[in-house]
Amino acid sequence: MDKLRRFMFGRYGGDELSKALLVLSFILLMVMNFVPKNLKFLVILPYIPAIICMFRIFSRNIYKRRNENYKYLKIKNRVVVWFKNNLNRIKTLKNYKYYTCSNCKQKLRVPRGKGKMSITCPKCKSSFKGKS
Ligand SMILES: [Zn+2]
Repeated sequence: MDKLRRFMFGRYGGDELSKALLVLSFILLMVMNFVPKNLKFLVILPYIPAIICMFRIFSRNIYKRRNENYKYLKIKNRVVVWFKNNLNRIKTLKNYKYYTCSNCKQKLRVPRGKGKMSITCPKCKSSFKGKS
């Protein structure tokens, strides 16, 4: 245990990005079961994220690895927020209709089944006609 600790001293270690790379590697490994025989050279694909993951864990350039992880978390967060927003939108699609304000791109939600109406954007106060 002491040997391992000494070996890891000054090295970056694991983080969220490394975890994600391992998961990606695992998913690719599963996908490889469905790859046709003439594309068998693709079997190396799952090893690429795994190797990058190992490289990052044992890397001594902590600053650079931390930056990569930060960028990854930023992108991941954006994707998670996008999914959350759109999931909510799909769930309420039966009761609401969605518009985008042509003036300020604000997303607007109006209740369905009210016929033609004038929609006023709460943000920029511009109004347009729409069917709900
Ligand atoms: Zn607007």
